[in-house]
Amino acid sequence: MSTAPIGILGGTFDPIHFGHLRLAQELAEKLKLDHVRFIPSGTPPHRGAPRVSAADRLAMVGLAVEGNVLFTVDDRETKRAGPGYMVDTLAELRAEVGANRPLALLLGADAFLELATWSRWHELFNLAHIVVAHRPGFPVGAWHNRMPQPLAREYASRTMQQPFAAHLAPAGGVVVIAIAALDISATMIRDCIRSRASPRYLLPDSVLDYIQARRLYVQ
Ligand code: ATP
Repeated sequence: MSTAPIGILGGTFDPIHFGHLRLAQELAEKLKLDHVRFIPSGTPPHRGAPRVSAADRLAMVGLAVEGNVLFTVDDRETKRAGPGYMVDTLAELRAEVGANRPLALLLGADAFLELATWSRWHELFNLAHIVVAHRPGFPVGAWHNRMPQPLAREYASRTMQQPFAAHLAPAGGVVVIAIAALDISATMIRDCIRSRASPRYLLPDSVLDYIQARRLYVQ
């Protein structure tokens, strides 16, 4: 059985787009992850309600990952009643995979800079490594102005220089990785559809077909 780290990519995926997929692909390759688990949120605690149902967001993630052996979908958060917290999801996964298997929580830079607002965020480091991908609009050089002190302290003390260090311990490190800069967001796609412009080439055709068949995001 593989002992390589399992990547976890949580998100609203409202809808999933090439920014998410490219992040997962590049981090899977650069960290030599066993696979990446996409975990769509149910009722996200950090932001307004998603525009479409958890069932639709889950279905779109399923379509988007089809055919990629490195990707799987995990529906646990969409099934949970009430607000879902990543710390609870990671604790569940930790119980399933055992104490020694490395877990890697994959985050875009914007999500990382918000980390200290997450429920019981200090516990995340006991459960997984944190892998931060570059994202346009959140340049690494400007992070120190945007990172609250408690997060800056964790970042300073936990940074690993080598991505492969994530294989050597089950949790606790932070690593920052440059990926292709794709300035795509779900907000941009929703705005595009609402203004009757095509979001084609920002997300997989299969996901766009699903959106159009159900007339999602039109208003
Ligand atoms: P919205 O526009 O609705 O806020 P989003 O496009 O940021 O959505 P989320 O589902 O909130 O998508 O993001 C899930 C994760 O993917 C987060 O960690 C986020 O930082 C990361 N991510 C999303 N888009 C990109 C991108 N273009 N480049 C790098 N990381 C990204």
